[in-house]
Amino acid sequence: MSQVDQKNSHPRIGILGAGQLALMLAQAAPALDIEVICAGSPGDCASQAAEVRSVDLDDVSAVAAFAHTVDLVTVESENIHADVLQGLNLYPNAHAIAVAQERLLEKQFFRECGIATAPFAPVESLDDLQRAIEEIRLPAILKTRRLGYDGKGQVRLAHAEEAAEAWASVGGVPCILEGMVRFDAEVSLIAARSRMGEIVFYPLVQNHHHEGILRVSIAPFLHQALQNQANQYLTVLLEKLNYVGVLAVEFFVESGKLLANEMAPRVHNSGHWTIEGSATSQFENHLRAIAGRELGSTESRPTVMLNCIGTMPPEIETLAFPSLFRHDYGKEARPGRKVGHLAFVAADQPAIVEWKQRLQGRS
Ligand code: AMP
Repeated sequence: MSQVDQKNSHPRIGILGAGQLALMLAQAAPALDIEVICAGSPGDCASQAAEVRSVDLDDVSAVAAFAHTVDLVTVESENIHADVLQGLNLYPNAHAIAVAQERLLEKQFFRECGIATAPFAPVESLDDLQRAIEEIRLPAILKTRRLGYDGKGQVRLAHAEEAAEAWASVGGVPCILEGMVRFDAEVSLIAARSRMGEIVFYPLVQNHHHEGILRVSIAPFLHQALQNQANQYLTVLLEKLNYVGVLAVEFFVESGKLLANEMAPRVHNSGHWTIEGSATSQFENHLRAIAGRELGSTESRPTVMLNCIGTMPPEIETLAFPSLFRHDYGKEARPGRKVGHLAFVAADQPAIVEWKQRLQGRS
């Protein structure tokens, strides 16, 4: 038994945030005899499965007061100000979150760990951008260093004359310019590291994005050499950061090589398939890791996950597929918003492809 188990076998875990990731963490908690309490706004979707307290996540003292009422704290988003995270009993640690929330630090850290990335250059002014264009060459993408998600805070540049407009459109905030990668596939790896340093990996997943938003994840992406390489990369990242919890890293596959794009210090959308597809879901393994428990098996079956963007498909349509798992986050329909996902567990790869095609027209 770990220290935490001995001291407290029914921990209260506070989650900073109360969206769909907090909801799915909360849904995994009862089976582990863990209590989850979320800090967010009344009406946030995690309230279906957990108590949600009204806490302003930008307010250092409000978050500290919330943290005092629980045994330990975790996050559902990396975009929480570093000052707010200081001094909390936090998993993963504040340094890991700080690295993952700032694209320049993140890319530099990948390189320090011997992990290849697309070429990039820091940009803090229009002059920097013009210099970076010479160095990186076009086409390229200007990305804000902070607060970018689902393709937000990104502008594609094809011609040098577009520099001033691109710089204005990101609001002149610190950015990086990143060379455009002609990738053959986008994949992600989710791993969990426990307090005792045990690490487990899920199978690599292939991801399909549209307009910067993840639409479909297909597990597994069968490529043993890339799986081994990705496992080794995450081992280095997790150990260097002394990381506890689930970490997700998105990669481009270019000419048979992995280039790291970004990492998320939390459970990740490309791991939602693990709820039905794996012996232990990413949500359960995150809770196990941070609560000081042993990690669960990541043995998995081929699974397709489709995000529902904007609206949920009518129930009558998903009912037509008996082995489809429907996750409705209970959010109001809004264009571009992730309101739920569908998962289909199949016995083999060809069946996955067939179902993906059939379902795509319905989501
Ligand atoms: P990001 O917010 O960095 O994950 O970017 C969202 C999506 O934009 C990625 O999943 C890719 O589909 C695309 N993208 C981002 N960076 C690049 C790049 N350097 N080259 C090509 N596509 C990219």
